[in-house]
Amino acid sequence: MVIQTVVMQYIPTNSYFYIDDDTGHGFLIDPGAEADKLLEIINQREFVIERILLTHGHFDHIGAVQELQQKLKIPVNMQKHGCFYVERPEWNLSAQTSQPIVLSDVEYLPDGSDIVLAANPDFRLHMVPVPGHTSDGCIYYSLKDRVAFVGDSVFQGSYGRTDMPGGDEDTLLQSIAREILTLPDSMTLLSGHSEPTTVAAEKKMPWYAPYLL
Ligand SMILES: [Zn+2]
Repeated sequence: MVIQTVVMQYIPTNSYFYIDDDTGHGFLIDPGAEADKLLEIINQREFVIERILLTHGHFDHIGAVQELQQKLKIPVNMQKHGCFYVERPEWNLSAQTSQPIVLSDVEYLPDGSDIVLAANPDFRLHMVPVPGHTSDGCIYYSLKDRVAFVGDSVFQGSYGRTDMPGGDEDTLLQSIAREILTLPDSMTLLSGHSEPTTVAAEKKMPWYAPYLL
């Protein structure tokens, strides 16, 4: 099951619980703020979160990581270029806020990793890099559940900003076309800041046409 929760400190961000129905174990994706709210859901529903997965290192996706990691004592995973973001408030954009964020205890994933649930090895997510919004952008998806957590690469009817450190528009559109729009049409795309969309719907957007050859 997927549970979407909007968390907010400076701007609202979608956090997602991706939970195995059989065991109640799962992953928490992009806990951007409000650790208490996320912990309440975990406790109330008796979830066992095995890992925190990050789609990229912007402050509004990592704001609750440190507190959750301390309380839950679980690994935090992201794409390898995430080190440029989580170690530098200027890059993760928290330097502009009253609480600069630096994360030190992160395990960087090799590109193309499978993240496997310890409680049920059939339950897993596949990670591929989708750079362009940031240089560390990645998505996590399950072909079996037809769901992809796409961070700020694709939004419903739009795509992520590319005017921040490590961003590049041509790179983003290219990597979306290569890694996301080649997934099955019926795949649901769950983003950091929009309603859900699908591969089929986004493929029709005109800005991808030059990249879909
Ligand atoms: Zn972002």
